[in-house]
Amino acid sequence: MFRRDLLRAFLGVPAALAAGCGRAPALPPGEIVGAAVGPGHRLRDTPPPTPSAWESVPVVIVGGGVAGLSAAWRLARAGFDRFVLLEIEPAPGGTARAGTGGVVPYPWGAHYLPAPMADNPGLLTLLREMDVIEGTGKDGQPTYAEHVLTRDPHERVFAHGQWHDGLYLSAGANEEDLRQRRAFFAEVDRWVKFRDGKGRRAFCLPTSNASDDAEVTTLDRLSMRAWMDEKRFTSPRLRWLVDYGCRDDYGAIPEDMSAWAGLFYFASRRRAPGSDPQPLLSWPEGNGRLVAHLAGKVREQIRLDRAVVEVIPTDPAGKRGVDVVAVSTTDDRVVGYHADQVIFAAPQFSRRYLLRHERRTPPRELAAFTYGSWMVRTCTSTPAPPSRGCRWPGITCCTTAPRWATSSRRIRRCGTTARRSSPTTTRSPAPTPWLTGDNCCNSDATSGPSWRSPTSSRPTLRFAAR
Ligand SMILES: Cc1cc2nc3c(=O)[nH]c(=O)nc-3n(C[C@H](O)[C@H](O)[C@H](O)COP(=O)(O)OP(=O)(O)OC[C@H]3O[C@@H](n4cnc5c(N)ncnc54)[C@H](O)[C@@H]3O)c2cc1C
Repeated sequence: MFRRDLLRAFLGVPAALAAGCGRAPALPPGEIVGAAVGPGHRLRDTPPPTPSAWESVPVVIVGGGVAGLSAAWRLARAGFDRFVLLEIEPAPGGTARAGTGGVVPYPWGAHYLPAPMADNPGLLTLLREMDVIEGTGKDGQPTYAEHVLTRDPHERVFAHGQWHDGLYLSAGANEEDLRQRRAFFAEVDRWVKFRDGKGRRAFCLPTSNASDDAEVTTLDRLSMRAWMDEKRFTSPRLRWLVDYGCRDDYGAIPEDMSAWAGLFYFASRRRAPGSDPQPLLSWPEGNGRLVAHLAGKVREQIRLDRAVVEVIPTDPAGKRGVDVVAVSTTDDRVVGYHADQVIFAAPQFSRRYLLRHERRTPPRELAAFTYGSWMVRTCTSTPAPPSRGCRWPGITCCTTAPRWATSSRRIRRCGTTARRSSPTTTRSPAPTPWLTGDNCCNSDATSGPSWRSPTSSRPTLRFAAR
C-alpha cells in the first residue's frame, strides 16, 4: 500500500495530496504527526556520505524506540554509561511515541502494556522503578496500582446494528460455532499449560524465555490459517476472532503469519488454563509514559536528529569492531563512531540500507519481510460520550473498520477529569496492509541532497501515520 493511499483511506483525497504528494486544498481541522519521511527517503536513495569527524565509543545503539531505550536503560542500570544512542527523529519513542498539546497527552501508536507476570523480571524492574507495582499477591504475582489498570470496561463488537459484549460474537451462534469455540480455547489452554523439560512455557514474554522444543517451534513453519484448517476450525465467527487478533497484534492476516505468532496472541497473556488474559496497564499518553521514563534515565547518552546511514563491521589488526556513520538531520554534519559493539534497534526493513554487508547481500529473510502501514486517529469530542455508550475498545465486527479506545477512563484514573471533552483514539491496520521502503510515496526524495527534515514533510493534523 502506498502512503498516499493510506492517507486517502483515512482523510480523503485532500489530505493525501497535502502530505507531499501534490497540490492540495485545505486540510480539515487538526494535524497529522508522524515520522519525517525526508531523511528516510534519502537514506534509501543516496549513497552514504563520508564522516568529517570520528569519535570512539564502546557501544552505539541505533534507534531510540522502546527496544533501543530499554537496552540503554539496562546498560545504565548495570553501571555502564560509555555508549551513545542515535535516533533519527527529534524525539525518542518510535512507535511508542506520544503527543502533547491537545486536551491531554495522547499516544501516537502503542497504547498499553499487558501487565507482566512474575516470570518477566526485567519489565517488573522497570515498573517497580516507575512506582506502579504495589506488592505481591498470595499467588506470587505482582499487584498493580489501580490508576494504571484498564481492566474495565471490556471489549465489545458491533454487529447487526448493535453492540455485543466480548470479542466473540455469541449472539446468533449455532451449536457448531459454539463447539468450535470451545475446541479452540481448549487448544489455547493446552498451550497455556504446556511446560517443556526445562519447565519453560510455550509462549511468554520475554520470548527468549519461551520453549524451543520442536513441538513449539514447528508452529513457526505453518501459517495461522493452515493451523486453523488443520484443526478444522471453519466457523466464520471463530475465524473472524482469530483474524482480528492477528490484525490487532501484528497488522497481518492469518494467511501471512505463523501459527506460533497467532497462538502467542491468545496464550501468552494467560496465567493458567481458563483464566482471563492479563489486565492492561495504560496512561493517557499510552506507552509514551514508558518512553519518557526510560529516556529520562539515559538523557546524556541520547543524540536526537541523528540518522544512522551506515553500519560497517571492521577488523583492524584482528580486533573486531564496528563503524557507525550518522548524519545530523538539522545541519547535515556527518559524524562517524568507532565502536566495539552496536545494538541495532532500528526497524528490520532498514537493515538492507544501513548494514553494509547486508546491502551487498541481503539475507533471505529480509526479502520476505513486509511491513504494514498504520494510522492512529485521536479525536476530541464535546461533550464526552456517555460512559455506557462508549466503552474501551469497540470493534466493528466482520469489517476492516478501525477499532477505537477512549482515553477518558484512563484520564480519570490518572487524576485528570475530562468531563466535557473526551479524546478518543482509533487505530487501524490498513485494509491491505503492506507498505515497504521501496514503494511508499517518494515525491520528496527528489527535493535535493539535504538530510535536513523540512517542516513541510512533517504536516501537523492529529493523526499519527507510519
Ligand atoms: C499503531 C500501533 C499500536 C501499537 N500498540 C501497542 C500497544 O498497545 N502495546 C504494545 O505493547 N505495543 C504496541 N505496539 C507495538 C509497539 O509500539 C512496538 O512493538 C515497540 O514500540 C517497538 O519498539 P522498537 O524500538 O523495536 O521499534 P520502533 O518503535 O520502530 O523504534 C525504532 C526507532 O529507530 C529509529 N530509527 C529508524 N531508522 C533510524 C536510523 N536510520 N537512524 C537512527 N534511528 C533510526 C526510529 O525513529 C525509531 O525511534 C503498537 C504498534 C503500533 C504501530
